[in-house]
Amino acid sequence: MPNDYLIGTGIYDITGPAAELGLMGMASIEQKTEGIHSRLFARAFIICDQSSNKRVVILSADIWSCTQAVKMEVVKRLKSIYGNDLYTLDNVLLSGTHTHSGPGGYSHYALYNLSILGFDQQNFECIISGMIQAIKRAHENLAPGKIFVNNGNVEDCGNNRSTIAYDNNPQTERARYSGNTDKEMLLIKFIKNDGKEVGCLNWYPIHPTNRGNKNKFITGDNKGYASYLFEKEKGTNIQEKETFIAAFANSNCGDISGNVKYGIPDLTHDFIRMQEFGEKQYRKAKELYRSATIQLSGSVDYRYTHVDFSKVQIEGTNNRTHPAALGASMFAGSTEDSKSEFGIIEGVKATISGDLPLGQRNIILEAINLLSGLLSGFKVPGILEDEMKQGHKPKPIVLAQGLAEPYPLSPQVLPIQIIRIGNLVLLGCPVELTTMAGRRLRETILNLFSGMGINYLALATYANAYAGYVTTKEEYDVQHYEGASTHFGPYTLMAFQQEFGKIAKALKEGKKVSAGPTPKDLSSEQTTLQTSTVADTQPLPWIPFGGIQTDVDSSYKVGATAKVIFWGAHPKNNLRTQKSFLEVQKKDGTQWKTIFTDHDTCTTYQWKRDFIANSKIIITWNIPADTKFGEYRICYYGDAKDISEKVKAYSGVSGIFKVGEAEAMSVNEINFKNSYDKQVELWFYHPQDWLKWSASAKYNLKKDEQFTWKVPSGWGKVQVRFTGPGKWKTISGGGSINIKANGEIENL
Ligand SMILES: [Zn+2]
Repeated sequence: MPNDYLIGTGIYDITGPAAELGLMGMASIEQKTEGIHSRLFARAFIICDQSSNKRVVILSADIWSCTQAVKMEVVKRLKSIYGNDLYTLDNVLLSGTHTHSGPGGYSHYALYNLSILGFDQQNFECIISGMIQAIKRAHENLAPGKIFVNNGNVEDCGNNRSTIAYDNNPQTERARYSGNTDKEMLLIKFIKNDGKEVGCLNWYPIHPTNRGNKNKFITGDNKGYASYLFEKEKGTNIQEKETFIAAFANSNCGDISGNVKYGIPDLTHDFIRMQEFGEKQYRKAKELYRSATIQLSGSVDYRYTHVDFSKVQIEGTNNRTHPAALGASMFAGSTEDSKSEFGIIEGVKATISGDLPLGQRNIILEAINLLSGLLSGFKVPGILEDEMKQGHKPKPIVLAQGLAEPYPLSPQVLPIQIIRIGNLVLLGCPVELTTMAGRRLRETILNLFSGMGINYLALATYANAYAGYVTTKEEYDVQHYEGASTHFGPYTLMAFQQEFGKIAKALKEGKKVSAGPTPKDLSSEQTTLQTSTVADTQPLPWIPFGGIQTDVDSSYKVGATAKVIFWGAHPKNNLRTQKSFLEVQKKDGTQWKTIFTDHDTCTTYQWKRDFIANSKIIITWNIPADTKFGEYRICYYGDAKDISEKVKAYSGVSGIFKVGEAEAMSVNEINFKNSYDKQVELWFYHPQDWLKWSASAKYNLKKDEQFTWKVPSGWGKVQVRFTGPGKWKTISGGGSINIKANGEIENL
């Protein structure tokens, strides 16, 4: 059958240390893990051409980005399992969803371990072995099947966060597109020939940064949440060797964020925003999945090479790329997603001689000082040659990390990869591309492939390595955050277009490509400033691990939050991979049945240090509105380390509590009075329930108007949003609320 491939899918847990390890992406030293909101997973797809036996692995993981270290180690281990020829650097594509709420420390390059305080072997191993397990499962599940493809727009799901830079692109070019974001989601669907649905994978550009830099819970953010919803609906069971998987991979999201619409995440609304952008992606994916009828057909092929991006000559011009460097505005952070720790604003440009601008000199030097303090052991040149300064202009160089000794602080020899599956092509990009940069790269490759019947192209970003942003030259000239973070100078995008063009041409002509320069192996150079866990201590000799500090209440209404605090131990002692730190159980006859785990978004597992080596574990369960009347309890699982380093499992269990009693179902009322000088919008949500979250109600409350809202039965706690003054409040019902003249909210 010409249209059939061998297909296989696999999923495995990659949730790293849930306490005291820096979260990757926001570059904040204070932002360390303190618990789990949702687990992180690696989702692998293998597609094999039955006639040639050529195959590819496409893996999407809930991590910030793949790193060179991860790619090299995964392929090394695959070779030790399957021999040297089956799974190689060339045909394995590993990408990260770009969540900013996963633990870090898995790069071999110092720049990406700075805020993490070094390399973290435990997390690295967790990610690597999880990816291997996911690929192994996909390999063992290989069987004949079909791949369907579909695409469509996701509306109102992310805005351009650097419009000043985007608008510097030529007007004629911008006029060819309907807006300053790419709305297309491209989805492929995997069905075995026996009819079994085994998964889907899509690419859509949006930063998973709804959980901001104050968040300390591990979560896959909006993309992880979209996967969660899809897999929940399909009854995914990660304990089974073959189960349905839904991967939400990223694309050219360099300048796209869901936070533009609402402002910097404030910890209060982060979850609701994550749900909003996750749900939008999930709904579109579900629709595309259901209606996919076009089948991918044709051969599987791929090309892969390494290019030294510190010195790519743009052919036919005098322009070239230069060793990696960061500009001042990189330290501004992306103003839309987080606040600069240095007080630098975006758009800082170099003087004519290529130096730091005088006005912001001191503040930038302060940032450099902080950096160099963290970079002990490295020599980064402070005085730069004119060629380097001119080569990066108008970027004022703050850190020339590509020139660091004994080796660069971020990778310069980078992998580029093209994968072809019939009429679909994937570009494995080790960078974050802005919207327009992505469009240009896409167009270059599609033009090259014209006449070959290739009509789908996905930019698989955050793949195989990570080396900052890539903007267009016009965007670069504005030196917003993304331009300042474009490592190799104004011609970086042209270099990517040129080098991707070369391997695309080779693929088209059936020619081989050289392996290119070998990236540095830095695995033996890794140091850490992190502290490893010491022995766990019990608060008092007679209180065991798993003992209760504060128990649950005896009953809760639906919509309320059940909470229990246990005495526990450090979660680094055992990551409980493929398991859970908690279980919410319901009494079913004489048995207790688990209904939720630490992966479910209605639960949180939180770790807090108490005294010196005591751990306090706070578990919450936001009781969904459709929870059935009955008896429930919360179980906690942990592992304690004694002074001889022995790790021993223990568990704890809360008191039994009732949920959903008759009185909890009664209708409550909330009275509103508007003393504010304008009409306000009242929005009613019950935010704790992921199933019914979309059910919201709205009321326009005029100035001086009084209004009584009858809380619908089963809603429990609601969140009321006052659009106008912009305040939120959680109300259980029965209250009286006045919006004061100054916009503040008072409970009467
Ligand atoms: Zn990013």
